[in-house]
Amino acid sequence: MVREVVIIGSGPAGYTAALYTSRAQLDPLVFAGSLSGGQLMLTTDVENYPGFPEGVMGPDLMESFRKQAERFGAEVVFEDVVEVDFSSHPYKVKSTSQEVEAKTVIISTGASAKLLGLEAESRLMGHGVSTCATCDGFFFRGQEIAIVGGGDSAMEEATFLTRFADKVTVIHRRDTLRASKIMQKKAFDNPKIEFMWDSAITEVLEKDDKVSGVEVENLKSNEKSTLALSGLFVAIGHIPNTQLFEGKLDLHENGYIKTHDAVKTSVEGIFACGDVQDFTYRQAVTAAGSGCMAAMDAERWLENQHS
Ligand code: NAP
Repeated sequence: MVREVVIIGSGPAGYTAALYTSRAQLDPLVFAGSLSGGQLMLTTDVENYPGFPEGVMGPDLMESFRKQAERFGAEVVFEDVVEVDFSSHPYKVKSTSQEVEAKTVIISTGASAKLLGLEAESRLMGHGVSTCATCDGFFFRGQEIAIVGGGDSAMEEATFLTRFADKVTVIHRRDTLRASKIMQKKAFDNPKIEFMWDSAITEVLEKDDKVSGVEVENLKSNEKSTLALSGLFVAIGHIPNTQLFEGKLDLHENGYIKTHDAVKTSVEGIFACGDVQDFTYRQAVTAAGSGCMAAMDAERWLENQHS
């Protein structure tokens, strides 16, 4: 049996694509991955997803996304895709336990925020550690926090976070920033932002299961110090989950999937939506919107094949 639509990935983009294609009676198969749900599974309160005036927990929101798609017949399997073949039609998608043929494929494998790799960092994600200032800044009103990184994201987020926090310390491993001059100036001119240069975070400290500070090593003097704070934002870049598609679809230099006309990839009938093709907005609501576009474009593409 050749599936009409196979969806790879299960964040807001993938599940929205599943909802729309199932309602279009295309019986989508969703490879949700062994770690399903995307980056929202790593957050606690989500207050910027429209429709939830009191906010919603990230994992609960993703469970609702999945159930809504399943209600209309989407088949969700919690397996990782290990190989794809887009060289001939129907396309082939191979997971850890099966190989399926598909007339269209929607890719929504997302991106992963790079982390420092400290044990407590992952454990305290959503409990003081965050990779999204837009999502979580609000929770740090009147508090002292830090952000690690020296690129545009770190400067943009540090500046944004001063709307809420009393003090934002930028911890950067070198003594010059990678960020563009204009973003640097904005951060330097902001009285609430302080810089800790040549410094690496060696430990995230915790109290009562929440972030209470960081241990920092000065990389020139090797001296260690601690900084008390209630929030740590990690802004050291993202890695798109596109390893499977290297050499099979056109990718940008930074690894994200190249799309044209919103969600069309370099191969006919293959669509990409959400963070795997978006390195600008990276929001759950924009990912969901692009998942809807991919579903509608896949449906149109299938119709054109039949006519
Ligand atoms: P980025 O430019 O790659 O910067 C990452 C920063 O994190 C660098 O300063 C890097 O340090 C640091 N870093 C990386 N790994 C680290 C580690 N293990 N430990 C400590 N520090 C680490 O990433 P980005 O800031 O997310 O930006 C990505 C792209 O999006 C860029 O092209 C950027 O211009 C663009 N962007 C633009 C805007 C805007 O224009 N509004 C906003 C956000 C992002 P080093 O400098 O020492 O390498």
